[in-house]
Amino acid sequence: MEQFTQAQIDALSTFVDPDRFSTGQSNRELHIKDISPHRGKLPAGVIWPTRTEEVAAILTYTYAQGIPVTPWGAGTSTEGNPLPMRGGLVMDMTRMNRIIAIRPQDLQADVQPGVFRKTLNAQTGRSGLFFPPDPGADATIGGMIANNASGVQTIRYGATKDYVMRLVVVLPDGRVIHTGGKAHKSSSGYDLTRLFVGSEGTLGVVTEATLKLAGIPVAHLAATATFDSLEAASETVAVLMGSGLAPAALELLTPELIALMNREKELGLAEKPSLFCEFHGISEAVLTETAAMAETLCRDGGARGFTTGVKERERKELWRARHEAWETIHRAYPGRETLIVDAAVPISSYPQMVLFSQRQLDEKKAVGFVFGHAGDGNLHVVMVGDPADEAEWATLEAINHNIVHRAVEVGGTCTGEHGIGVGKRQFMQLEHGEGYALMKQIKDLMDPKGLMNPEKMFL
Ligand SMILES: Cc1cc2nc3c(=O)[nH]c(=O)nc-3n(C[C@H](O)[C@H](O)[C@H](O)COP(=O)(O)OP(=O)(O)OC[C@H]3O[C@@H](n4cnc5c(N)ncnc54)[C@H](O)[C@@H]3O)c2cc1C
Repeated sequence: MEQFTQAQIDALSTFVDPDRFSTGQSNRELHIKDISPHRGKLPAGVIWPTRTEEVAAILTYTYAQGIPVTPWGAGTSTEGNPLPMRGGLVMDMTRMNRIIAIRPQDLQADVQPGVFRKTLNAQTGRSGLFFPPDPGADATIGGMIANNASGVQTIRYGATKDYVMRLVVVLPDGRVIHTGGKAHKSSSGYDLTRLFVGSEGTLGVVTEATLKLAGIPVAHLAATATFDSLEAASETVAVLMGSGLAPAALELLTPELIALMNREKELGLAEKPSLFCEFHGISEAVLTETAAMAETLCRDGGARGFTTGVKERERKELWRARHEAWETIHRAYPGRETLIVDAAVPISSYPQMVLFSQRQLDEKKAVGFVFGHAGDGNLHVVMVGDPADEAEWATLEAINHNIVHRAVEVGGTCTGEHGIGVGKRQFMQLEHGEGYALMKQIKDLMDPKGLMNPEKMFL
């Protein structure tokens, strides 16, 4: 659906202020692309609600009219998750961006979904608290909830699902429900909160969330360990995770990626298979002891170099460089698109997955970079190519396919954090078997007309 009728434009205009509904070409074009190679269909219009009541009125109307609706956060997804594949209405949540309350005594915050993660953390930081899930990109809370986003610190602090306590959700037909509550525990009924977390906007629109917060750690310490082989580096991951040292981040990087980062940021890092680690603690003294133990374990695992105690500015620069790995790769290959593998496996299988992935790239002579949130078994392979070059892109797809199949064989998943969107639908049956059919039934029950974020998650 690329055009509304005049009657539909008139009706939609009544639900929000005049500057919050647009059928203008540029606004529509701004909502057809995330960072994936996928493209949505040009939507007929974009609407920016600010209140639950507005969302409910809009969805009641669109449902009756059979208009597809796709929620949009910051548009930083990697799998086409927020793209309007059937056009219709894009519901851009970024003006629904009020921090309703920060309640330090409860370690909680109540927010609207369009609040950006960094904005929230700037505010909660005044009370010594933070919202730990960190996808690198400055995403909205609604987008993070919908994708169950996580990131480098998930091994210590958990993913978004671990921080969502209560939601207000508008269902596809306009009904408003709330899930969960503000108590730290509950055994009451089905866990509907967890059903919506990770549902990628296919079951309804989140209009409010109560989030758990954590205390900002007093002391931080970054360390890098360099190895002669990728195998030794990845095998040391399980040792560090089982050591009781509780790293707050544990990332694996290949020499090829580090070389690219060095070139771009002048970091001067050794271009060797490396582990970037971070530890959080109650004092510098505790962290010094922790680092000494980590160094012993890394050296036992074959590390040739181990550097700690980098200053705060350098520590931030190191993590910024790691967070910007995708942008760095993208900039190095202008005009190319990226296909991102996001498999996650039990950590005992991590070394074989890393080696398998690197071998796939080498054997098929594909341009790609292996790295990942090693501590939680999450493997990224960012492959570079031109989707218009059918043979080249088919090779990248084949590598993606082979890695995901291997990951599922060892009990893993096709996506540790990016979600299914458009790009990973092909793996849902493989990964979930009969559970996939049940997911489809749940979708049909809640959205019988198939209008909420259509053509996502299910083939
Ligand atoms: C450089 C880079 C690095 C990244 N690294 C990571 C990483 O380490 N870990 C990680 O998890 N992700 C990562 N991502 C992916 C991305 O940032 C996350 O998935 C993020 O959660 C997307 O949030 P968003 O606000 O951009 O949402 P969008 O991309 O706009 O939307 C995401 C999904 O949420 C739905 N949605 C949005 N708002 C609502 C709402 N209010 N109610 C219901 N559904 C809604 C959309 O329909 C869509 O399905 C990275 C992205 C980039 C660009």
